[in-house]
Amino acid sequence: MQLKDKIKALEKDRDREIDTIKVRYAKEIEKHRDALEVLEKMNEACLDCGGTGRKGQLDAAGGTEVAPCQSCRGTGKRGEVV
Ligand SMILES: [Zn+2]
Repeated sequence: MQLKDKIKALEKDRDREIDTIKVRYAKEIEKHRDALEVLEKMNEACLDCGGTGRKGQLDAAGGTEVAPCQSCRGTGKRGEVV
């Protein structure tokens, strides 16, 4: 019985530590998400091609074929799609 209690106590400690780590990382991640959101609002570049207007796609032969980005139709800017 003592061993079972010991195991339960250790599991409880483990779970408490995991929760602490999760909270710490969640706060850290949230900061980066907020920053990313601000940057994305400022950035006018197309999110799909990063503003290049071109995008590599795999072709039938397994190579990469560069084609105009379909999201922005090659303009490289957001909101240009009609
Ligand atoms: Zn694009």
